[in-house]
Amino acid sequence: MYLYNSASHKKEEFVPNHPDVVKMYTCGPTVYHFAHIGNLRSYIMEDVLEKYLRFLGYNVKRVMNITDVGHLTSDADEGEDKMLKGAKREHKSVMEIAQFYTDAFFDDCKKLNIKRPDVVEPATNCIDEYIKIITKLIDTGYAYLAGGNVYFDTSKLDRYYIFNDHNEEDLAVGVREGVEEDTNKRNKNDFVLWFTKSKFEDQALKWDSPWGVGYPGWHIECSGISMKHLGEDLDIHCGGVDNMFPHHTNEIAQSESYLGHKWTNYWVHVAHLNTADGKMSKSKGEFLTVSLLEEKGYDPLAYRFFCLQSHYRKNLVFTWENLDNAQKAFEKLIAKIANLKPDDGAVDEAARAEYRGRFVKQMDNDVNTPNGVTVVYDILKAQANDATKRAMLSDIDAVLSLDLLAKADALRERNARAAATKSAEFTVIAEDGAPDEAVEALIRARADAKKAKNFAEADRIRDELKAQGVELTDIPNGAKWKRV
Ligand code: AMP
Ligand code: ZN
Repeated sequence: MYLYNSASHKKEEFVPNHPDVVKMYTCGPTVYHFAHIGNLRSYIMEDVLEKYLRFLGYNVKRVMNITDVGHLTSDADEGEDKMLKGAKREHKSVMEIAQFYTDAFFDDCKKLNIKRPDVVEPATNCIDEYIKIITKLIDTGYAYLAGGNVYFDTSKLDRYYIFNDHNEEDLAVGVREGVEEDTNKRNKNDFVLWFTKSKFEDQALKWDSPWGVGYPGWHIECSGISMKHLGEDLDIHCGGVDNMFPHHTNEIAQSESYLGHKWTNYWVHVAHLNTADGKMSKSKGEFLTVSLLEEKGYDPLAYRFFCLQSHYRKNLVFTWENLDNAQKAFEKLIAKIANLKPDDGAVDEAARAEYRGRFVKQMDNDVNTPNGVTVVYDILKAQANDATKRAMLSDIDAVLSLDLLAKADALRERNARAAATKSAEFTVIAEDGAPDEAVEALIRARADAKKAKNFAEADRIRDELKAQGVELTDIPNGAKWKRV
């Protein structure tokens, strides 16, 4: 399998570090508000990557943090803690907000068939880990104390920028308009590992530390949590593209300085979902959540389908029209699958393996889901019986997670029920007032045959009834009969 590695800027063959496990780490949500469907695009694509690795036979251990402290509104070291902002907005405690939005996040994930990672760890659970790392960074000269905070010293690194060749102006995160520059920093890109002196005296969550009562910076959380659960190296680290700088750049700086060796082999970044007029946001305009999609009548899995139809490294534009098209295409696809008969003979294992191979060929190329979805359509056109096609679909849906067969089966049952209700509505009147079950069954069978346009069978039944001395008269949505 080939994966695009943002750190090397090219597609590389995926070779895990250990024979028995693939270690995968994903930056989790900051739980101060609902996730928007842009955030969820990242989680959908990361879910596909995890499931595809499992599909290939790898044993994956995936860890995700829940950011419930330390993520400031600027992504760097300025602004208010997002959690505190959420708590103030809703007049609740930070922990109440964290619990509520963590649950809401996993509810959304469930609706989108995003598997829960093997380990989900709130940042507030791992304070000891951060203290251990920061202590060593200070001891080895990579971090310093200034104005009460602990900072990482980026001038100590041979190479700080990993993902992009930034120009200095873009990186002026400390001197944004309206934001006071932090004069404690020795270098512009130094970042806070531990806050004690903060301009926000009402910071709700604080812990004791060798440097005073305070709280961790956002970046140290992911290093600490990943090392706690996955040890000193990672195969794959993922996140959205906005995480590249400063978050992932800082994660690498502190982790590799602490460990003294390379930390993560493959960096996978998901491009953004944008609205037609720009960036997706939780504050401006319509706040696009999974619940909003549902309120408007969309199936959350139609949104997953929409995401899969684009490559994860391409920006994706969300409009209601685009989602409408995806939902229609998804419904059409399910209707086609519903036409496959479930018990249609034996599964042709050779054909099944061939289509599995076709899927692998596409997905091996940097998780090319749009081409992977095309294989679903190829299967429907394949020279194979329905049972084989269903087996093929079931195989690849282990990765796509669109509930293809379950949805098709539900649709087929719904259609059958609707047909049965229709036929039950068909009234049979015994004119002489003496109902006869056998006669009634034949009359209904004749009506069904007519509905199925099987007129020969309908005529045959009429003749059979006639032979039994039954005279039949059609009435609207029914028939009356008498013995003659
Ligand atoms: P946050 O809750 O802000 O920490 O973000 C959660 C995840 O969503 C991170 O991996 C972000 O990189 C990602 N993300 C944020 N905005 C978008 C977007 N518009 N499209 C795709 N992913 C996003
Ligand atoms: Zn992170």
